[in-house]
Amino acid sequence: MISKLNNKELDQKIKSLAKAENRLLALVIEHINEADRRKLYLDFNYPNLYDYLVKECGYPGGSAQRRIDAARLLAIEPKLKAKIESGVINLSQTTLLQKAFREKDQRVTLEQKRSLIAKICDKTVNESQILIAKELDLKIKVNTKATHQKDGSVRLEMTLTKEQWESFQKAQGLASNATQTNDLPTLIKYLSDKFTKQKEGSAATVAVKKKVLQRDQCCQYKDERTNQVCGSRWNLHIDHIKPKWAGGTDDLENLRVLCQKHNLHVYRQQAGIRTLSKAQDNFFG
Ligand SMILES: [Zn+2]
Repeated sequence: MISKLNNKELDQKIKSLAKAENRLLALVIEHINEADRRKLYLDFNYPNLYDYLVKECGYPGGSAQRRIDAARLLAIEPKLKAKIESGVINLSQTTLLQKAFREKDQRVTLEQKRSLIAKICDKTVNESQILIAKELDLKIKVNTKATHQKDGSVRLEMTLTKEQWESFQKAQGLASNATQTNDLPTLIKYLSDKFTKQKEGSAATVAVKKKVLQRDQCCQYKDERTNQVCGSRWNLHIDHIKPKWAGGTDDLENLRVLCQKHNLHVYRQQAGIRTLSKAQDNFFG
């Protein structure tokens, strides 16, 4: 029973399973390599290995492609099997290599390929990417490409400068609590929504202020003894009749126009009720 394991046992179990998973993966790659060599897919009337893996073996497309990429690397570097087994190279890295080789139109020598496989051992995916790009002198792409797909989704390809990327990553770090993921599309959606809400919020604030000014036109302060309305048209402010800190809303009925003098007067009265240390009630703050 998994739930009966203590934390130490659970940790050890996960680690030993991860090792077993790598061993199994290396075996899968080795067998796919052999299937590729024999063109096994022809026996099943598939035109290629990819279709065989997806339709016959049930691999999702991306997983099938990553395994084919690794299997074809294994064909040129037999040492790769042991590296996958021990986990010093993963399928993200082998796919990076194959993509780069395809980009160079296979103008990469066997020695270069083997040396790159050795060099990316124990590197992170990002480190491997930079290393491969440098070694193979891959072109730096700068133009942004948006491809519209049949389900309405858009595939974006773009290059961020180091500075832009760092700024984006900073936002990502700050937003990760809210988004609970490092997934870029999720983050872009989150930041866009937040920005839009903020902009629309301030636009709404401006619209409400305008309405209150149009309705009241002058200071609405009523002297409690004389019952006279101030009526000043100078230096007008929008005031929350019931302060926000007391649960007052931003609804029109809770807003009124006050001149600067009476705005301050009312504030002082309220501040006496509240604590003096609190900052002045900002409009919609
Ligand atoms: Zn006034």
